[in-house]
Amino acid sequence: MKLFCVVCVLCGLAPGALALEREAFTISKYDLEIRLEPEQQRLGTRGKITLRNDSAHPQKVVALQISSSLNWRSIRIDGKAVQFVSQPYASDIDHTGALSEAIVTLPVEIKPKDSVELEIGYEGVIPLDATRLVRIGVPESFAKHTSWDQISPSFTAVRGAGYVAWYPITTESADFSEGNSLFEVVDRWKAREMRSEFKLALSLQDARGGTTPTLLCGAEAQGYSAEAGKDRGIRVECGWSPLGTVTPTFVMAEYVDESKAPLKLFSLPGHEAGAATYSNALDPATKFVSGWFGKPSASIAIADFADPQSAPFESGTLLLASMAAEDSKLAGINLVHELVHSALPSSRPWVYEGLAHFAEAMYRQEQGGRQAALDFLGLHRAAFLDSEKEVSATPQKNPGQPLAITFDETYYRSKAAYVWWMLRDMAGDDAIKEAIRKYRAEDDNDKAPNYVEQLIEAAAKRDLGWFFDDWVYQDRGLPDFHVQSVHPWKTEKGVQFITVTLENLGNAGAEVPFTIFFEGGEITKRIEVRAKATATTRVELPGIANKVVVNDGSVPESDLTNNVFKISAP
Ligand SMILES: [Zn+2]
Repeated sequence: MKLFCVVCVLCGLAPGALALEREAFTISKYDLEIRLEPEQQRLGTRGKITLRNDSAHPQKVVALQISSSLNWRSIRIDGKAVQFVSQPYASDIDHTGALSEAIVTLPVEIKPKDSVELEIGYEGVIPLDATRLVRIGVPESFAKHTSWDQISPSFTAVRGAGYVAWYPITTESADFSEGNSLFEVVDRWKAREMRSEFKLALSLQDARGGTTPTLLCGAEAQGYSAEAGKDRGIRVECGWSPLGTVTPTFVMAEYVDESKAPLKLFSLPGHEAGAATYSNALDPATKFVSGWFGKPSASIAIADFADPQSAPFESGTLLLASMAAEDSKLAGINLVHELVHSALPSSRPWVYEGLAHFAEAMYRQEQGGRQAALDFLGLHRAAFLDSEKEVSATPQKNPGQPLAITFDETYYRSKAAYVWWMLRDMAGDDAIKEAIRKYRAEDDNDKAPNYVEQLIEAAAKRDLGWFFDDWVYQDRGLPDFHVQSVHPWKTEKGVQFITVTLENLGNAGAEVPFTIFFEGGEITKRIEVRAKATATTRVELPGIANKVVVNDGSVPESDLTNNVFKISAP
């Protein structure tokens, strides 16, 4: 009998013990209180998190992870300490290449969809660490400009999940060297946390010296600075509700505050000229954004880097970008991007970020013409080209990522910028402006999945269902255009015509421009070529055609080497 019972117990435990479902729980709510001690590169956290069981089974064990340079101190439920085992867990989701994992045994099983609140405490240091990059062969001197997160007395900037797990996460191991594994794990995490609420109170005890540093965690942050002489502490509160695509990030430095609503501008001493380029670029950028997206009203913040080579980073409406150089072009497009966010909130990443990057390209066009804008967009093409090629080549194995729901940055930023650009080329400025004017972000997700399509179709009075299907609702890879045939001919009265047939070898259709070159000039027309189809049109010319070029770069294509067709003399 005794033996039987032991067997029973073992059977009962086996599923849980064998398979720790690390992604079973989503952290639906964070309420964290963080104390920074920059002299020691240290932080200490106390707070509450709410875990929701998003798996299909009851769960009794949860794996909570923080950066490997931090340590778990306490985990309590309803005021009572709960059992946990702390262990290192290798994962490139953190800059150190590892996590400190607390395997927590919950007092009771949590049923699917049910939640449990945990009081947590952890502390440790966050020094500069490029381990995960150096390990895959990136030279250290280079890696530190990308992996710049650290707490230090002179400059502190720490990004969240995907960079430094300074707040708890629940993820499977991610590996930088394994193709897309890291990005898949991070994208999955972000998708799970999209609706989560995040509250952060950040404080600095014992600010040294005669000056008080600025603490930042977002553009809308509420800050309190204690009266000088009484208490040297400062405190700032931030909230993201819901989190959306934001990566919670905090920054601390002795900034010079040159804010002018709605822009909060924080530069470092010695970077006055670079900061001035931002101040000077604000009015023209605001005027441009207002014309397209309405008046920017919410605050935006741009903060300087101590290392001028640090890669820029955006957390909501807080942009970290170096002001060491005077680059008025860059300052202009950075401001345009953030001002679009200020004017047009949306919980749809491809709308929120896509429109901001699209606006950057339009601003380039205003300053340098269409070609300058297309060159600028061209820099985005490489970001998603390879994954789209895989989707085109093996759609069964790589079903792709529909733009409407993706959490892949290269898609909701770079591909989305192109999609908005193509929509503008097809529908015209006035129709896109009207659609944007009517767009309401509130209750975004209660609206029909084709909400944006409906707005643009109504404004443009044109059916764009096929385009949204190929580019937004599905991921069908990219088009591949070439000139299938040309046929020059002349009327009895001597008027020159050319009949052009274009073929699209790809699985996504588009309206594409093509240019006919003739002696003494060129003429550009547009034509809709659906997926795996041809389209024919005829064009009247003032001279004899010698060349046809399809696509000026405004439609992202998988192959741009087959776009020129030379017409030999008859
Ligand atoms: Zn953005």
